[in-house]
Amino acid sequence: VAKAIDLVIISPGNNKIIYQDLAKEYSAIEPPVWAGLLAKFSRNQGYDTFLIDQEAQGLSSDQILQQGLDLNPKLIAIIVYGQQPSASTQNMTMAEEICSKFKSQASNMKTLMIGGHVSALPQKTLEESDTDFVCQGEGVHTLQALLKMDDLESSSQLDNVPGLWHRKDGLPFFNGPAPVIPEKELAVTLNGIAWDMLPMGNYRAHNWHCFDHINDRTPYATLYTSLGCPFKCSFCCINAPFGKPSIRCWDPDFIITELDILANKYGVKNIKIADEMFVLQEDHVMRLCDLIIERGYDFNFWAYARVDTVKDRYLEKLKKAGFNWLCLGIESKSKHVRDGAQKGHYSEQDIIDVVRKIQDAGIYII
Ligand code: SF4
Repeated sequence: VAKAIDLVIISPGNNKIIYQDLAKEYSAIEPPVWAGLLAKFSRNQGYDTFLIDQEAQGLSSDQILQQGLDLNPKLIAIIVYGQQPSASTQNMTMAEEICSKFKSQASNMKTLMIGGHVSALPQKTLEESDTDFVCQGEGVHTLQALLKMDDLESSSQLDNVPGLWHRKDGLPFFNGPAPVIPEKELAVTLNGIAWDMLPMGNYRAHNWHCFDHINDRTPYATLYTSLGCPFKCSFCCINAPFGKPSIRCWDPDFIITELDILANKYGVKNIKIADEMFVLQEDHVMRLCDLIIERGYDFNFWAYARVDTVKDRYLEKLKKAGFNWLCLGIESKSKHVRDGAQKGHYSEQDIIDVVRKIQDAGIYII
């Protein structure tokens, strides 16, 4: 049977289970950044691509199965990240449910899982779920190599796909990691999110993000300006897809073009910078702020920082560019818990001092 399209990308969503009653009104519904990046990459490569955002579209796994059957793709890629990219495990139950539906109803359709959890536990994912393939890594090279293949059943061809785990003679087989995209190639290879493939009218900010304008939580968007984090906190899995602690930044001159689209085409003001560590590299952050200020946009951002990465000289410009909320990842009020988390070497007084400085600049802390 001829395949109707090349690729269906699914962002699985479990918000009613993860957030329970909070999902009705308070929690955010966020554009899936990695699914959007990979969808645009695939389309740029000339592959006919369709993107499903389960949470934003309110679809059951049966409805997704039906869409898959109707679209009859060569490959189904399930991109498993959370609203925080590091929080993908919570979505694994739904990702596995979707894989199982395809396995039982359309076993000829091949499924690939990509994401933080599956990169951290690729073999276990292959052993415990019904997915055909697991990607260990950020996914670009793995996806591209699979889409180039004539026959996704060919074990000898699968053996050459970088970053891929598959079953060979019934046993998990890994061909070795794929290289990550070099920083200077980010804006070419991952050149933005496929906003036009997402239901942009369905996203909403967290309620706290919009306390000053609570009835304007929609439209809303999330955006990466960098990937990864150079720190090595013992509990954090953010670097699992990248192989080691590192950070790569998109050029601010590219990021501003994404913000132009969000502001001018979709009327977005509320934005989460999804970077796990945004306030880190002064050149990157200050240049992006300058570009936003030059444009005169009225954004309401939230972003991540750390107690030891926020410098006094950043704050005025951050606020002027619309960074109204910073999340410091303090992790706990308890020194005992913080020490156990092995995050950074700063005292309780350092935390208090930084929080006060940020608040004095008119920026809220989360
Ligand atoms: S600073 Fe944050 S993102 Fe970076 S390793 Fe630590 S917890 Fe993870």
